[in-house]
Amino acid sequence: MSLVAFLLGQLRARGPMNFSEFMEHALAHPDYGYYRHKDPLGVQGDFTTAPEISQIFGELIGAWMADAWQAQGSKKAVLMELGPGRGTLMGDALRATRAVAGFHDAIDIRMVETSPTLRAKQEAHLKNMHPCLHWQEEIGPLPRLPLFFIANEFFDALPVRQYVYTQKGWCMRMVAEEKGELAFKLSSPFLHAPVSSSRHGTVKEGDVIELCPMAEKIIHQLAQHIATYGGAGLIIDYGYSEPHHGDSVQAVHHHAFCPVLARPGEADITAHVNFTALARSARHAGASPHGPITQADFLRKSGAQLRAARLCSHASPEQQKTILEGLERLLSPAQMGELFKVLAITPQSLMQAAGF
Ligand code: SAH
Repeated sequence: MSLVAFLLGQLRARGPMNFSEFMEHALAHPDYGYYRHKDPLGVQGDFTTAPEISQIFGELIGAWMADAWQAQGSKKAVLMELGPGRGTLMGDALRATRAVAGFHDAIDIRMVETSPTLRAKQEAHLKNMHPCLHWQEEIGPLPRLPLFFIANEFFDALPVRQYVYTQKGWCMRMVAEEKGELAFKLSSPFLHAPVSSSRHGTVKEGDVIELCPMAEKIIHQLAQHIATYGGAGLIIDYGYSEPHHGDSVQAVHHHAFCPVLARPGEADITAHVNFTALARSARHAGASPHGPITQADFLRKSGAQLRAARLCSHASPEQQKTILEGLERLLSPAQMGELFKVLAITPQSLMQAAGF
């Protein structure tokens, strides 16, 4: 059976499902979900991410984490990565922090990954790099220790609900069966707006609001932990920071956009991250959000150019070209520099987060 056959079976038995349920099946269905069976990264895959483009990315993040760890007293701590892809970022971060006195001995590393394919790649890549590496499918209960976490292009993969403003009021976007195929449909109108009007401003017909309850819940848990036990988090993703109306859901297959319902289980489906909502959730949990700032700003302030110059000084002309092109992709406003944003979370006692 394919995922489409499974979804059609569900729709016939139960009627239309909301878009968030569809997205969850498409990405995370245990048998057919996109992240369950594919390595989506790289030239052969569907998309490429910052750590796959340049080692500088993971190195600077590693240095940022070690710095935050030192600033909070160099205690025993958990270092967690959400959605670690091929393990490249963690590998670069660990290599870059080897010389930070006591850091590797103090950390217990937790990799949160649902994909067996990617977990195997992470294990192979990180083998022998650290004695305390653990994998888990969800965040679960955390030990009472400071938590340092990193999430690069993780939150965009969580299912969103979409609300559409119509003449009759706010409706939810649903997925239904139409002539044997998957099709969008709207629910009956709701009595109330999905968020308070102070958050969505004036609306007109056709406006869309996206909510990602799973992302807000995860941030709440992690931020509450950081507020209580210390630590820090970095969330990096494409997204927006103002109140926003718009449908940001997109599907990508082999580096090209495709219609969202066309290839469930085969195409990557993502939504832009609402950084305002994540920052609010962190604040409600008692922690301090910093930013979001653009990826370019964050990397520049963290010393990206200096690091590139140092790498170039030991490199062949060909390698130098690769290093500088990679850095340009991460920093350029036309590429990842401005679309990607960075949000940091710290305990309230830490007034300043490095780079923000
Ligand atoms: N951070 C990596 C990979 C980004 S792709 C990089 O920058 O290269 C998204 C990652 O999140 C993949 O590792 C995917 O398997 C994982 N993932 C997606 N949904 C998840 C979920 N609900 N729980 C845990 N991991 C998930």
